[in-house]
Amino acid sequence: MSQRTGRSRPLGVRTRAIHAGEVHDPTTAASAPNIVMASTFILPPAFVQANAGSSFGNPETLGEDLPNLYSRWSNPTVRQLEVKLASLEQAEDAVAFGSGMAASSALLLHKLKAGDHAVISDVAYVGVAEFAHDTLPNLGIAVTFVDTSELEEVAAAMRPTTKLVWIETPVNPILRLTDIAGVAEIAHRHGAEVAVDSTWATPIATRPLALGADCVVHSLTKYLCGHGDAMGGAVIGNGRAMNALRLDARVHLGGVLAPLNAWLINRGIDTLPLRMAAHAEGALAVARFLETHPEVTRVFYPGLPSHPQHALARRQMENASGMLAFRAEDGPRLAGIMAERLRIFHYAVSLGHQRSLIVYVATADVQAGSFRLDDEHLRRYRAYAGDGLFRVSVGLEDPADLCADLEDCLDLL
Ligand SMILES: *Cc1c(COP(=O)(O)O)cnc(C)c1O
Repeated sequence: MSQRTGRSRPLGVRTRAIHAGEVHDPTTAASAPNIVMASTFILPPAFVQANAGSSFGNPETLGEDLPNLYSRWSNPTVRQLEVKLASLEQAEDAVAFGSGMAASSALLLHKLKAGDHAVISDVAYVGVAEFAHDTLPNLGIAVTFVDTSELEEVAAAMRPTTKLVWIETPVNPILRLTDIAGVAEIAHRHGAEVAVDSTWATPIATRPLALGADCVVHSLTKYLCGHGDAMGGAVIGNGRAMNALRLDARVHLGGVLAPLNAWLINRGIDTLPLRMAAHAEGALAVARFLETHPEVTRVFYPGLPSHPQHALARRQMENASGMLAFRAEDGPRLAGIMAERLRIFHYAVSLGHQRSLIVYVATADVQAGSFRLDDEHLRRYRAYAGDGLFRVSVGLEDPADLCADLEDCLDLL
């Protein structure tokens, strides 16, 4: 599908969320995309005659226009999703992976080599934090962990060997925001690239590439799939960089997205703009309710004026998303009550689904296992989380029912 209407008006995001990347099966004329489960493809005779002596993995000998060859390189169903993701981020290309972690680790291993330095957010998705603390240094890659919401801290961490700055905004689990344009300006001045994990924002709220980032990472498992029934991940950016990532990291590390999951995620994205509007509306209602409850000591939601970076949220996010966090006096006890009593919320990890999800994140636990913050950064983390906070993914149910479900538990404290 072209990115423009017949009269050359750019297509709106609701139209692109449904039609971008769509390829119809000429045999059946099916309106919905089909699922190509094939792992291998019959090679065109002309391609075989021209390339019979070459290595299929080497783009220099084959050029960039490979036919479908093997599904670790490309698969038509996965490709439809990649084109749609690129359209939503207004980027040239996207590479899909089997999970958000497969996408993140592929990008980090592709961009960084022994002797390089990376600046990585001190608080990040726990899997990324653990990978950055444990795996990267073992490969001879130096990492500095900074509070990326403080631009001076990012600038001070830059070295001549810095190749990549990794940010996540809003950050899991405390919803701290990072000024993408500010970080991009600092990184580029030092010759480094910026990767943004935009899972919590989604392309509906924020388009990091338009703000100067070099690539965007999404866990497709969350809002993009939207229904809690398929895992996936993606990196989105310029064409040459994505082709290099595909051939290096997807082909060699092998973290492919299965066609059935690509199809489910692709269908989920059809309603992403509508879902995000409803998620934000529900989250605002739940956040406002929590702010009035006497047992709740603090609420963090970018859409509320009480968020410490509400001005940045308004500048950088067109939708405040469905994620919020709150603190209550006796968090562990409330968690126990919730696991037993909640009737609508599921007490479960993950986020971005139509079903509302809630989980308690204990500070001591993530500090020891994942973040390993120094004293000053731990002090800042505790200013948000205290001893622990509830991470809430507000789903698509009636907001009044969600508030009542939480109230039933809070009233037992
Ligand atoms: C869940 C999540 C990931 C990891 O994605 P998976 O699909 O679970 O591998 C990465 N970043 C953020 C912000 C996440 O919420």
